[in-house]
Amino acid sequence: TATGLPRTVAHEIGVPTVHRTVVDIANFDHGATTPALVAVKEAVDKVSPTYGSVHRGAGFASRITTAWFEEARAEVGRFVGARPGDEVIFTRNTTDALRLLAHALPQDAQVFAWQSAHHAALLPWPAEHTTALRVPGSVQEAADLLRTALTAADPQAPKLVVLTGACNVTGEVWPVRELAFIAAQFGARVVVDGAQLVPHRAVDLDDLGADWIAFSGHKMYAPYGAGALVGRADWLDAAEPYLPAGGATHTVSGDGIQWHTGPARHEGGTPNALGAIAIAAACVTLARHRETVDRHEEALATRLRDGLGQIPGVRIVAALGADRPNVGVVTFTVDGWDSSLVSQVLSDEDGIAVRDGRFCAHLLCDTVVGQSAAAVRASLGLATTPDHVERLIAGVRRLVTSGSALPYRHVPGQGWE
Ligand code: PMP
Repeated sequence: TATGLPRTVAHEIGVPTVHRTVVDIANFDHGATTPALVAVKEAVDKVSPTYGSVHRGAGFASRITTAWFEEARAEVGRFVGARPGDEVIFTRNTTDALRLLAHALPQDAQVFAWQSAHHAALLPWPAEHTTALRVPGSVQEAADLLRTALTAADPQAPKLVVLTGACNVTGEVWPVRELAFIAAQFGARVVVDGAQLVPHRAVDLDDLGADWIAFSGHKMYAPYGAGALVGRADWLDAAEPYLPAGGATHTVSGDGIQWHTGPARHEGGTPNALGAIAIAAACVTLARHRETVDRHEEALATRLRDGLGQIPGVRIVAALGADRPNVGVVTFTVDGWDSSLVSQVLSDEDGIAVRDGRFCAHLLCDTVVGQSAAAVRASLGLATTPDHVERLIAGVRRLVTSGSALPYRHVPGQGWE
């Protein structure tokens, strides 16, 4: 098939077709958002004619939607290997999930985060209790920085280490297991920002040695508006409700308020049940086809990296090292070319959708791209085909050898002429 997947698997996985418009747009922006799978659409279609309020009604629609919602919770938990007693809390996205954990931190907790993290994982923690570790240039350096910081920390204070599952700029898979092992030696807990990891790798909380993982539906082939925080219950149950409101309350009386424990405590207000059902459908589909998906992406990623790497003047960025396992993200600059111009030319002349900028990871980009400098990011996924990869390589090669055919010129720092 056009996707390069065996026909039956492509059909079953339901590779999205929403981008196949007048031209076959080559979608290299999976790192930002993924199109919804057919299985996801079908799951939502199945409930949408009869959906009703969740945990707030006795009618048929309400009861069935509540059952679907809770089933979705269990499915999402299974997807990341939730352990008995772990909670699955539906949130709006990864940003919201990490913010919820920040809200639930014990008062005297110390947080440790590398500056290479996405801003969603770097910024929600209380600044006065957070140690920012510099952008590491290798796995060894990442480990050394963590060990040194934890050695200097108050041994009595509760501690949280914030780990990137896979980097949204370099695509590098972080050595979560190894770093979580170090954290455990100091009694520190670990949260994994799984936004870029879970669409591309099987994840198991115990295997990673992680206490929590946060991720977004819209990066794993479900629509916007729903994400999850999965992991240990104790800090979450001890915290004030994230959204003090209906649903979170057990009883409100003249004598005070009793809050629920469990996910309800932090899911105040009517939840996004269709979003939860959509994520669950994506979890089931990705888990079922994991090996095929991995093989598909691996082959495309290797070709893309090799092809772009051979073009003179193209610099592919890395932090931990070019040999790290990668989720299919290639971020690069082209010597003498403004990155926004590169991406606009690729779009307008070749129908290729990439992203340019600093990817909500400014401190990382300062280090691996250049001070205040932008780069071009190509991130592949299930909507990427081998033809797309060849088109991108050819597009960048043409740009380097003959420039743009369009009648405009971009002067860096000055705009268009
Ligand atoms: N972490 C990483 C690594 C990401 O790539 C992103 C999205 N770019 C986020 C967190 C935030 O995800 P969301 O915008 O869905 O909250």
